[in-house]
Amino acid sequence: MSEATKSESSLFPTYARYPFTPVRGQGSWLWDDKGNKYLDFVSGIAVTNLGHAPQRIKEALVKQLDELWHVSNLYHIPNQEAAAKLLTDNSCADAVFFCNSGAEANEAAIKLARRYQQKVAGTGRYEVITFNQSFHGRTLATLTATGQDKVKDGFTPLPEGFRHVPLHDVQALDAAINDKTAAIMIEMVQAEGGIYPVEPAFVQHITKLCKDNGILLIVDEIQTGMGRTGKLFAFEHYGIEPDIFTLAKGIGSGFPVGAMLGKGYLAEAFSAGSHGSTFGGTPIATAVVKATIETIVGDKLADRAAEMGEYLAEQLREKLAGHPLVVEIRGKGLIVGIECTEPVASFVNEGMQRGLLILTAGPNVIRLLPSLLVTREEIDQAVGILAAMFAERTAAV
Ligand SMILES: *Cc1c(COP(=O)(O)O)cnc(C)c1O
Repeated sequence: MSEATKSESSLFPTYARYPFTPVRGQGSWLWDDKGNKYLDFVSGIAVTNLGHAPQRIKEALVKQLDELWHVSNLYHIPNQEAAAKLLTDNSCADAVFFCNSGAEANEAAIKLARRYQQKVAGTGRYEVITFNQSFHGRTLATLTATGQDKVKDGFTPLPEGFRHVPLHDVQALDAAINDKTAAIMIEMVQAEGGIYPVEPAFVQHITKLCKDNGILLIVDEIQTGMGRTGKLFAFEHYGIEPDIFTLAKGIGSGFPVGAMLGKGYLAEAFSAGSHGSTFGGTPIATAVVKATIETIVGDKLADRAAEMGEYLAEQLREKLAGHPLVVEIRGKGLIVGIECTEPVASFVNEGMQRGLLILTAGPNVIRLLPSLLVTREEIDQAVGILAAMFAERTAAV
């Protein structure tokens, strides 16, 4: 290719990036390459749950960098054992598989469900039912599981064995169950799909359906897990225990890592060699996971997220109440959506100009994902900027 046709960037154009280059972060704040300061209510999409550059995690990481980086899963990795123990001690799960991303965690969950049905239960079942508007990842299996067409465009043929039903449609769900159904996979709050918390009655229906029909329940906690919703895991709000659940985003405080967790009776479905990952659970990754869980559990940050989430929702309701553009303010803990009557993309650009980073969840929903350590003062500032933006829209109409 000649120089003339080469584009400015050497990256594949898979992202529509904002004209914004953050170069430094501390707590809830980011600084760009021109020295401007921004209040971050995105948190790298629910990843930097402890804020930017958290001291305790940094110390654990630096200590591990001095000792050992990588040895492969051919050998014992004490940090991996310790991080897994922390996860099982603090959840209904008994076993953990570490990987490197959310999509990989969901891939592992789908594989475990199929393998359990085929090798342990002996049912031969393989189908996974998921919900419209859900998001489960970008690998071929997880984009097929995802209930949004846009992620599938141009990637056929897609793997077999996935069915989608509308969220909260009991009849459609019942009708989708058959003698091939291995698992039902669900987010407790549909995040990418528009911040829709699942209704408790629907969750109860699913758990009964699973129990009565030998179907495994997989909960995708990749965005909702690690305290974000006001519980360590969002399924705790519903008093249920999934057979399998998946984590990524917030589990590594910014270090790339994922995890698939399951009940003890599923452990025998995997044997040596049935699943694996070169980088899964390296000494470095699991040093970070360990410090992150210790911090979130030890400092009761899920409770803090519940309290701050309530304050954020209350302030938003107070300041945006009755605004003609606002349809609904909803969420759980510190995952909050402001649904509007029209597309909200321009709010993101304008927020950036005013020093507030926010994101969308679908075309009409503003999504707010502050750090779990966000302060009331920071919430007041963010709500003030949002209120000012909304007030100007009214004036312009
Ligand atoms: C982000 C996300 C994923 C995919 O995670 P990656 O790390 O991007 O592969 C899957 N499910 C949910 C609910 C997510 O929010």
